[in-house]
Amino acid sequence: MTKVMSFNPHDHEACTASALEKADAYCQKHALKFTPVRRQVLEILCSDHKALGAYEILKRLGPLGFKSQPPVVYRALEFLVAHRFVHKIEKLNAYVACMHHDTSHVPAFLICRNCETVAEAPNKEPSDLVAQIAKTNAFTVEKTVYEAEGLCVNCKEDMADDAR
Ligand SMILES: [Zn+2]
Ligand SMILES: [Zn+2]
Ligand SMILES: [Zn+2]
Repeated sequence: MTKVMSFNPHDHEACTASALEKADAYCQKHALKFTPVRRQVLEILCSDHKALGAYEILKRLGPLGFKSQPPVVYRALEFLVAHRFVHKIEKLNAYVACMHHDTSHVPAFLICRNCETVAEAPNKEPSDLVAQIAKTNAFTVEKTVYEAEGLCVNCKEDMADDAR
């Protein structure tokens, strides 16, 4: 099975660069404006694979010389979510950068309750069970949220160390 990047050592510089590059290319192709603030918000969200709330993003934008007013951040997030560069984690009311922008997918999240690192599992199809029940009941699914909460491997090891 796929080992998700967030919880495992990986070339993080390359991973961030690739997410930004893909966003750049996509915006160019679709004539979207990838403004500096939109780009910076995406870069912040790429920085450590953690879910960040709008307020935290705001705090990080200020020192970078951007106008750190809430509407600026909310508008940038709205754009990034609309074009699926970023997903919202409902449970945390926070945002993460999408690491699979080039594939169509229904995001499924593994959320560490200790360090709030979020891993996105590439999920190709919505769950069959939900899809079937919806179909039987003529229910139109518009949005499905998959969010699993638990402990990541790093935190589990830390806790085992503490117990020793
Ligand atoms: Zn990374
Ligand atoms: Zn995604
Ligand atoms: Zn953790």
